[in-house]
Amino acid sequence: MFDSLSDKLGSVLDGLRRRGALKESDVDQAMRDVRLALLEADVALPVVRDFIAQVKERAVGQEVLKSVTPGQMVVKIVHDGLVEMLGGAAPSEDGTPPAPEGLNLLGEPPVAFLMVGLQGSGKTTSTAKIARRLQQRDKKKVLMASLDVYRPAAQEQLKILGEQAEVSTLPIVAGQQPVDIAKRAMQAGRFGGYDVVMLDTAGRLHVDEGLMAEVAAVKTATNPSEVMLVADAMTGQDAVNVADSFNKRVGLTGIMLTRVDGDARGGAALSMRAVTQCPIKLLGVGEKLDELEEFHADRIAGRILGMGDVVSLVEKARETIQEEDAERLAKKIQKGEFDLNDLADQLKQMRKMGGLQGLMGMLPGIGKMKDQMKNANLDEGLLKRQEAIISSMTAKERRNPKVIHASRKQRIANGSGTSVQEVNKLLKQHQTMAKMMKKMGKLGQKGLMRSMGG
Ligand code: GDP
Repeated sequence: MFDSLSDKLGSVLDGLRRRGALKESDVDQAMRDVRLALLEADVALPVVRDFIAQVKERAVGQEVLKSVTPGQMVVKIVHDGLVEMLGGAAPSEDGTPPAPEGLNLLGEPPVAFLMVGLQGSGKTTSTAKIARRLQQRDKKKVLMASLDVYRPAAQEQLKILGEQAEVSTLPIVAGQQPVDIAKRAMQAGRFGGYDVVMLDTAGRLHVDEGLMAEVAAVKTATNPSEVMLVADAMTGQDAVNVADSFNKRVGLTGIMLTRVDGDARGGAALSMRAVTQCPIKLLGVGEKLDELEEFHADRIAGRILGMGDVVSLVEKARETIQEEDAERLAKKIQKGEFDLNDLADQLKQMRKMGGLQGLMGMLPGIGKMKDQMKNANLDEGLLKRQEAIISSMTAKERRNPKVIHASRKQRIANGSGTSVQEVNKLLKQHQTMAKMMKKMGKLGQKGLMRSMGG
């Protein structure tokens, strides 16, 4: 789907990549080209505007990491911007990718999934694809029901797909109305011990208030955990408008984009999240029932840019910088210097460097003490509170914790939203660590000298 967009962005950024030093005018030129490429890919204009402004803001004045070129840095910024635009959370500073958004199965079983969308978008096929996966991969017991009483063969179509997918379908009762079918399906789901009941609503040719009201009524009757819009990627901006209307009228929890295997220009995928704030959860990549993919913003962004190598290069460079920070700290420790600033740095690093042990591993001659430190693994909430305590201190207090007396402790506790006990605990912890590290530092130096034959 993204081929031509990918080619265009590729050549734009290629030009940029070859430059040693990046000037602001280069960023401007590159952003003009990126803007055109996105518009040509049928991304909605306001979305493009926001995107360019954001990327520009980040690119200009961005510190270029050692060992990558400014051009490579811009590629990474454009990539991260795309990931965000596609609905992935921005990767955190240390580069850990955010968790993919799955389907919501929470609630008293059976949970209802409501499938909505225009006629021909691939809604019925997608219903069967999801049901099949939930049953085969996730070991859920799934029941499907078609609420389409308008198109003569619709209920029959779902039944046939159910047989192919080996998923049960609700027996067809001629003449029953959609809300009643939905209620019957939920009841059958309860009695039959099903985990999920998938309701395939009637398709429509265009957004139509009568049918919207019907979907809203079914929603009220079944309280679904997912209201999934099925949208055809090939229809570009139309799909975005449809998503917007459905979202405003009935409220969506997710989008499944179909025909991603076709030669759609990709703009729909890129604008949908931005316009609806609703996550794209799944992709349909063919007619067959197993042609279903989970949506991963970072993978799609990678496909659009086609520059995975540059992106991972920059991520590597970022990791190296963190390692250098850790080494610098390790050197200070060896000299017996370890103040609260270092502790704050270290608390931050802990989450990134595999805990205290990772840091200790950089000090020579420490094996035994490392084991003792294993117990010092702290949970993230606590680390964050401790960081808050330290940032509520003055520079002087951080350098020399001895000056922190009772009234100062109270002020620090107030400032950080913690208690004096917690402040005391942190100070004590720092003391213990500083002592321990001094010891280790000496040990380490000896160990080092020994290993150098000194
Ligand atoms: P509905 O009217 O929305 O229920 O649409 P259908 O499920 O009947 O699908 C319409 C057509 O689109 C069928 O021929 C499907 O096989 C086809 N289709 C559905 N999803 C995909 C997809 O992801 N890729 C491709 N290439 N075709 C699809």
